Amino acid sequence: MIVINCPSVKIVDQKSYDLIIDEIELATLRCPNCTSVGMHVHAYYERSFISFGLKMKMVIKRVVCPICYKTHALLLSVFVPYTRYDIKIYLKVIEREEDIESLLDLFEMSLDTLKRMRRNFKKRWSYVLESERLLIKDSALSLKCIKDLKRQFMQIHRQDCFSYILTT
Ligand SMILES: [Zn+2]
Repeated sequence: MIVINCPSVKIVDQKSYDLIIDEIELATLRCPNCTSVGMHVHAYYERSFISFGLKMKMVIKRVVCPICYKTHALLLSVFVPYTRYDIKIYLKVIEREEDIESLLDLFEMSLDTLKRMRRNFKKRWSYVLESERLLIKDSALSLKCIKDLKRQFMQIHRQDCFSYILTT
């Protein structure tokens, strides 16, 4: 996967994804697997996504390396692996600053989902943040996870093929 850092994106939807992805020159993209430069469009796939109660299907671009033939999804740093929620919502849920009722209302989330998100974080990622001295409140959290840990926030399986692009 190739993760594009985009901390300034306010609303994550197909339009903002397309705007960011369209600016990326595939000819200059480096393959995370074999490090050769230059990628081609391979395919698109759908992913469910929920941002502030709005359910949507997002079409994600997948590129292929013409040298090693490995394919890589182009993802945004605001995505949280294995969930349909973006990082802002995820952090709000695990911060435990607001009462549960208002969180469920705000994000139109079920209690089961909220509990599962908190459980997953506690079990699989709270120790990662502690050992790396990263804070949930850090506004550069997603970038630090990508740069320092070579993982997306909440990514559980380590991926060998990982790279990231910094955008302004
Ligand atoms: Zn390659």
